[in-house]
Amino acid sequence: MPVCYFCEEQSRPFFGYYCEDCAMLRRWLVTYDAKKCIDILKRTLTRDSKQIDFKINQEIKKILNKEIEDKNDEDDKNSDASYMTRSKIKK
Ligand SMILES: [Zn+2]
Repeated sequence: MPVCYFCEEQSRPFFGYYCEDCAMLRRWLVTYDAKKCIDILKRTLTRDSKQIDFKINQEIKKILNKEIEDKNDEDDKNSDASYMTRSKIKK
């Protein structure tokens, strides 16, 4: 089997340049902004494996919190406040 051109460790398909993992990395770089990917990797990979797991969990929580915030903002815009009494309407 030929070897991956990127990691030079794992085998690649005969008619491809990269192994499965490196092909996935390449797809992420193409799909998302390369600068964003590098920034995330810099912030996460300069740690030992336990710290990496912790950082990954933190990043996931951050993303989920952002999604929840965005969803709440959307809900606030879509909600009809006319049913609220004056005391319930925030000023
Ligand atoms: Zn590879």
